[in-house]
Amino acid sequence: MTIDDESVYDVVIIGGALSGGATATLLLRQNPGIRILIVEKSAQLSRRVGEATVEVSAYFMGRVLGLTQYLNECHLVKQGLRFWFASDEVKNLGEASELGGRYQVRLPSYQLDRAAFDEEVLRRACLAGAHLLRPASVTGVELSSGQDQTITLKNGDGSKTIRARWVVDASGVGAMLARKEGWWKSNTEHPTAAAWSRWKGVKDWDGRELAEKFPEWASAVYSVRGTATNHVIGDGWWSWWIPLKGGDMSVGVVFDQRLVEWPQDGRGIGDRLKAFLMEHPVGRELLVDAEFDAADVHWRKNLAYYSTTFAGDGFVLVGDAAAFMDPFYSPGMDWISFTTTSAAELITAQRRGEPMSERIERHNRTFARSHRCWFEAIYKDKYEYMGEFDLMSLAFTLDLGFYYLGIVSQPFKMGVKALLVPPFSEPISGPFFRFISMYNRRLAKIARRRRHLKLLGRKNRGRRCLIPGFTLKSTDVGLLLKGIFQWIWLELTEGWHTWFRRAAS
Ligand SMILES: Cc1cc2nc3c(=O)[nH]c(=O)nc-3n(C[C@H](O)[C@H](O)[C@H](O)COP(=O)(O)OP(=O)(O)OC[C@H]3O[C@@H](n4cnc5c(N)ncnc54)[C@H](O)[C@@H]3O)c2cc1C
Repeated sequence: MTIDDESVYDVVIIGGALSGGATATLLLRQNPGIRILIVEKSAQLSRRVGEATVEVSAYFMGRVLGLTQYLNECHLVKQGLRFWFASDEVKNLGEASELGGRYQVRLPSYQLDRAAFDEEVLRRACLAGAHLLRPASVTGVELSSGQDQTITLKNGDGSKTIRARWVVDASGVGAMLARKEGWWKSNTEHPTAAAWSRWKGVKDWDGRELAEKFPEWASAVYSVRGTATNHVIGDGWWSWWIPLKGGDMSVGVVFDQRLVEWPQDGRGIGDRLKAFLMEHPVGRELLVDAEFDAADVHWRKNLAYYSTTFAGDGFVLVGDAAAFMDPFYSPGMDWISFTTTSAAELITAQRRGEPMSERIERHNRTFARSHRCWFEAIYKDKYEYMGEFDLMSLAFTLDLGFYYLGIVSQPFKMGVKALLVPPFSEPISGPFFRFISMYNRRLAKIARRRRHLKLLGRKNRGRRCLIPGFTLKSTDVGLLLKGIFQWIWLELTEGWHTWFRRAAS
């Protein structure tokens, strides 16, 4: 399409990937006839990380965006999360400790090829009425509270300046508005980095070769292992193994830069990634004949950041343009579900003529609090204990139990309006925030003591924690209570050593 300098839109969206396409879809549904322009830099979206959905993002994609049939036909149904632990004593896959479900999962989630998925969301947004300009970049935005915003674009025809009442920043990690306005902050408490690629020739987790080599291992679980997000884990790092429709496997490593020294030699990132994973007995078994796609190798450091402002009267930030915490447990697309739903609600409220200032203040307060508490409760210092089978089994049971109890249950019970309330944003979540933060801090402290005494990994050989899986039934609180009793037992048998000491011991 072409546009001229006089073009005026109701909303201009910077970026046509999932956050941009989803916001456009919601806006068009709530505001028939609204004029939306999506500006997307690329001619064709490429593969990107963010391939594993969890229960909230799957709800959003399936039930809110209405993509369940498409997801079932064109992507993979996911079988939860599975974790693999090792130590110097673990020689092979059969001896590695395993954490995950014994049976298939109870609620839907998917493994996505984002190049295809995001294009489909964008295609449907355009079918519903959004205009798309691509390849084209937004190069400048002049914000004007309560007025039309001025947007400068660059495409094949040169530069153009257009106006719109609202700008939605869905530019992803580029975080265009936050950086331009000086709101962008690196989360220096959480210095993580990642390297990843897509691979061919990764062994089949459920195939005959591994079943014949490790028969006990194969029969210990009734679920399909290969369509889970498998995590091969070590001290201070974890890796994701996400299968994609068609046979490729997305494999990448994330590590805490304070705990792991990433190999710095003359080899390329892909070779170093493979060498790093081949040190782990599970990685070695699965990757031995695998090859990464040399044209699709990526590296990013200091992953965690946030914007200090999320919205004003005329702009709103969604998805990665607003903040990014950590990829562990795949919260990225949950965050997209919450930010895009609230962004569409904010713009719709202004179009209905509602007063804006209090709403905007609430929006900023809500997302600042949610982001900070979500990070502090779940991720702060998690890499300290991530490689410990017993500590991680405990944390996973409790983290997942609280996720089901407080977050996943809400949209299933209350519908889409639950997505207007991001995690930890309401006062009622205060005690849960404090409790989750407390056990995560305690587990980190216990691991620090083990590291100091060179006791890490002692419980990583030949164990299996196969949790039955949570449902939305209130009786599942029993599983949470079991986890809490296990934590108390850990404190009485080991944790007490650190009760009165400072962090390093
Ligand atoms: C290592 C890693 C692993 C992850 N794994 C998961 C996971 O398993 N599950 C999960 O839920 N999340 C995961 N995430 C997070 C997930 O990748 C992101 O949350 C998600 O992809 C963000 O989508 P988005 O639409 O906000 O941004 P993006 O996907 O980054 O899209 C932004 C779009 O904006 C366009 N754009 C940028 N600037 C401009 C401009 N100036 N003009 C026009 N267009 C522009 C770009 O071309 C791009 O298409 C992971 C993140 C990392 C770093």
